[in-house]
Amino acid sequence: MTIKEAIDGARKIVLKIGSNTLVHSDGSINTEFLTRFADDCAGLIKKGKQLIIVSSGAQVTGLATISGWAHKRDVHYRQALCAIGQVELMDRWRLAFRDHNIHVAQLLLTKDDFEDDHRTLNIRNTMFTLVDENVIPIINENDTIAIDEIRIGDNDNLSALTSILWSADLLILFSDIDGVYTDNPKTNPHAKLIEEVKNIKELRSSITVGATNSFGTGGIETKIEAAEKTTASGIPMVIANGSRPAILSSLAEGTAAGTLFTTDDTSLFKIITGNDKTY
Ligand code: GLU
Repeated sequence: MTIKEAIDGARKIVLKIGSNTLVHSDGSINTEFLTRFADDCAGLIKKGKQLIIVSSGAQVTGLATISGWAHKRDVHYRQALCAIGQVELMDRWRLAFRDHNIHVAQLLLTKDDFEDDHRTLNIRNTMFTLVDENVIPIINENDTIAIDEIRIGDNDNLSALTSILWSADLLILFSDIDGVYTDNPKTNPHAKLIEEVKNIKELRSSITVGATNSFGTGGIETKIEAAEKTTASGIPMVIANGSRPAILSSLAEGTAAGTLFTTDDTSLFKIITGNDKTY
């Protein structure tokens, strides 16, 4: 399967945007990216797709807003920064979608929310209601209350849990690299992009997983964990480079590369499990 085919065949798509994609290197929000991304989302919605966005960037946006706090390492300051940045972030998303007459809604979740049946039911119902009414839910971890015990910790895993909870057909993670390489492409010019992964165990034994990038909390390891979660529930996952121009529409048109994680028999799995049990 190609990424284009995966997008063509999916109705419910979760799109995860990492901090490095959302902000410039000085930490300010990349408005051009948001505008173009909202245009592409509006195009997909016109074609009948339903979308949920998982957006990182609360902390880095908080820092850009109150730069004097950059040196403060205390956890309460970090959490306070996320509370400040989350507002700015949502405001930018709201403005980006306003031109398309699309409303956005904020959902802030923690690990607990995915472990408690009562909460998952409520979240699901809210997600379905919003999407049915053509509102785009924009999800982030509730960083302000998330202490270690209840933290998911990174938005790659959060978006995988979200995809499973919503019974999505596809998850796309936008990062600052094209996908999974055989080695670190920033240090090894011979590293090759792996375009399709059917067996994650084999992948793990054949690549070198590097460290986290500058703003995000993830890195390739958390992306592979996310793929393990979604593909186990029959949901394919794509990693693509959010810094490439018009990346979402390019993927949909088949003109951009990325890494697609599939399982050999996803459709069968979905029928058997109802695709919403494993989180
Ligand atoms: N929730 C964090 C934030 O908005 C980002 C987590 C991540 O980058 O994975 O700052």
